[in-house]
Amino acid sequence: MNDVPKLPATDQPVSERVRARIREAGRRFNANDNIADFIAPGELEALLDEVAGKMQGVLESLVIDVANDHNTRDTARRVAKMYLNEVFRGRYTASPPTTEFPNAEGLNELMIVGPITVRSACSHHFCPIMGKLWVGVMPHERSNLIGLSKYSRLAEWIMSRPQIQEEAISQVADLLWATVSPNGLAVVMEADHFCMHWRGVKDAGAKMVNSVMRGSFLTDATLRREFLSLINVGQRGADAGPLPLCQPVGDAAPRAVGRVDPRAVAAEQSPPRRHRPPLLLRRRLHPGAGGRSRRRLRSLQRHRP
Ligand SMILES: [Zn+2]
Repeated sequence: MNDVPKLPATDQPVSERVRARIREAGRRFNANDNIADFIAPGELEALLDEVAGKMQGVLESLVIDVANDHNTRDTARRVAKMYLNEVFRGRYTASPPTTEFPNAEGLNELMIVGPITVRSACSHHFCPIMGKLWVGVMPHERSNLIGLSKYSRLAEWIMSRPQIQEEAISQVADLLWATVSPNGLAVVMEADHFCMHWRGVKDAGAKMVNSVMRGSFLTDATLRREFLSLINVGQRGADAGPLPLCQPVGDAAPRAVGRVDPRAVAAEQSPPRRHRPPLLLRRRLHPGAGGRSRRRLRSLQRHRP
């Protein structure tokens, strides 16, 4: 934040002032858009007060005795704080800083980061979305390199907004593409949608898998297949097959949305496994090797961002 002038206090709700600035600038303010540039110093606290007041009205309309029920007396403010300062923080705060390093060594290795844990809420019901994200980067000599933890921070900034998974993964890909300027970028997200578990069809096993492939991952089917098989090694064990339905369907349709992976469903029903730290897979072109088929697995190391 920013150089938005602080306005004198008025009776006008602060959300109206913020909305007016966004409209003036001709910008969009959908649930998964970031509006930090339009919030003046001190206004986030005023927004929190406004949301708490409206939330109190929701509880009253639900005929909950907020005056006498000790459990819900402060719920409105707790929910407002949770929305603005935690789960939807990515709407109201500027992008986390990233230090970008030039690719001085001219690295042209495929790098895979993941699984990164992602948390969000669906725009439709505000129910949680919990999932994993894998990123594959094929740099070229003009790419920027960013620290591994920055992949998590940038993904978190995008995901801590009300989202739908198809748009979230595109926003993650756009941001990484702009930040890293790679030769190719692959992003795969697999997530549980609690609006399917808790309500609606109440299907506890369903997951959604989708992918975005850009640059060399879109044009080079071998590279794409290798990325998809390597993220399987990281997540599901070497004997697991590829993620179904997450491969692009030709160049005209770079994104494809999958639904249910039966192995993921089986894993979901088995006892919880020990938390796996994110895995970094790194391959490097064999010196003097002619083609992608000569690449070898250079190192496989666990990494904690
Ligand atoms: Zn939903």
